[in-house]
Amino acid sequence: MGEPDPTAPKLAPARDRVGPINERLAPLYPEFEGLNYANPFQLLVAVVLSAQCTDKRVNTITPALFARFPTAADMATCDIRELEQLVKPSGFYKNKAKNIRAACVEMVARFGGQVPTDLDDLVSLPGVGRKTANVIRGHAFETPGVTVDTHVGRLSRRLGLTRHQSPVKVELALAEIVPQAEWLHFSGRLIMHGRKVCLARKPRCEQCAVADLCPKVGVKGLAASRRRKKKAKPDSPQRAQRAQREPESK
Ligand code: SF4
Repeated sequence: MGEPDPTAPKLAPARDRVGPINERLAPLYPEFEGLNYANPFQLLVAVVLSAQCTDKRVNTITPALFARFPTAADMATCDIRELEQLVKPSGFYKNKAKNIRAACVEMVARFGGQVPTDLDDLVSLPGVGRKTANVIRGHAFETPGVTVDTHVGRLSRRLGLTRHQSPVKVELALAEIVPQAEWLHFSGRLIMHGRKVCLARKPRCEQCAVADLCPKVGVKGLAASRRRKKKAKPDSPQRAQRAQREPESK
């Protein structure tokens, strides 16, 4: 667990900072980049494909995919090899194709070929975790949940909004302090801020619009660990070889 930056000025409690943080991020990410979809079924498929893949790339794959298989019933009975080829550019395509088809089989068998709206029903579908379910509920059914992916978890901890590591606990902690109407937008903004500024390995605190509202929990430790690693590692294999060959001068 990281510690707050001891050099940072004392900040207001998370509950009082989260509003201003959200307000500052809002104009920076007015329409966070997202997936193209026309209905809940297309959104579910697109979200499954977006694991370990950019939204942009998914958006290049889905038009042909949905033209070939327009409904869950079509996808439930498709040839898995054909589906694999269509989703291949998204990476991990065998697994994704298997999960998507299995989810469609379940939707046809249990939900009349429709995407269920209930969170428990959604997470019972193959390949659909809590994060995916919340994205679907928030975007397709306007029943928002706080989407917690790796960015939202990391930023929430750095911003001192929660100390939890578990995505479910982060989700509940954010739901306590962020107004429900903002759940979806706030998580979308944190995702974009995590992609563009508060990067996992090297947060750009000096360029950050919410730096004065952020205790930078764990960030100092990150910089120290990077310095240690750099020191421990020779700059290049060639330099390491030279160091071994050349005796130290006295
Ligand atoms: S970039 Fe730095 S200041 Fe901004 S949210 Fe991340 S840790 Fe906080």
